Amino acid sequence: MPTALALGLALLGGGVWGSFLGVLAVRIPGKTSIIHPGSRCDHCGTRLSPRDLVPFLSWILLRGRCRTCHGRILPEVLLSEILTALFMGATVLFAPSVLRGLLAAILFSFALPLTMIDIRHHRLPHRLTLPCLAAGILASGISRGPHGLIDALLGALLGFLPLALVAIFYPRGLGMGDAIWLAAIGAYTGPEALSLVLFVASSTGIFATLLIYLYGLYKRSRTGSSLFSLAMPFGPFLSLGALTALLAPGFSRLINHILLEILP
Ligand SMILES: [Zn+2]
Repeated sequence: MPTALALGLALLGGGVWGSFLGVLAVRIPGKTSIIHPGSRCDHCGTRLSPRDLVPFLSWILLRGRCRTCHGRILPEVLLSEILTALFMGATVLFAPSVLRGLLAAILFSFALPLTMIDIRHHRLPHRLTLPCLAAGILASGISRGPHGLIDALLGALLGFLPLALVAIFYPRGLGMGDAIWLAAIGAYTGPEALSLVLFVASSTGIFATLLIYLYGLYKRSRTGSSLFSLAMPFGPFLSLGALTALLAPGFSRLINHILLEILP
């Protein structure tokens, strides 16, 4: 297939798929069904027609408001359409192999709603992390046989254990949701890439926390009394680390090489 055609399909398909992922991000924390009822306005309940569901265009033409009651449509849906289209397009262009591209697309489909839910509600629901873990083990087993299956199981176990220990002994720092999310990530990346996932997650997490703290100082409206009392969700940074590990496997070899050099 010519690259331009594949890219066009990825952008369009990503927009439609992103619309569904945005609905997941809104409905899962509310514990409502993700399929029934169909798409409707959260304010007046009017059923949305196909012309209200065209990715990007509907939101822009209606300026983010319901056609009937003019209530505000949650920004999650538009944001999710844009991010998914961009991610699918980038995967077509830059994925090191078709298999890694497919694994990254599956993982992204869980990571995006989980990131939005973690930012808004500070939790990572098992309704998304557990199916993601199962899909990762299944996909690795089907695509790479027994070796892939063992890699996925080891990745899940090694991802789960360290964060589960932190969640048990220092529950203020991390929750069990983070441990299950890293287990799911390990099923896609395998055990060797977990060091890169944690390196990217902690460095970007620390950087973002510092930025927010400094912004708070600047605005003189700090939410907490110290840097350490800022409650930052860790899930979005784990997702960033996971997608880096899948799409740029060379980085994990580099990190492991550095770790082996500096560790006694
Ligand atoms: Zn409405």
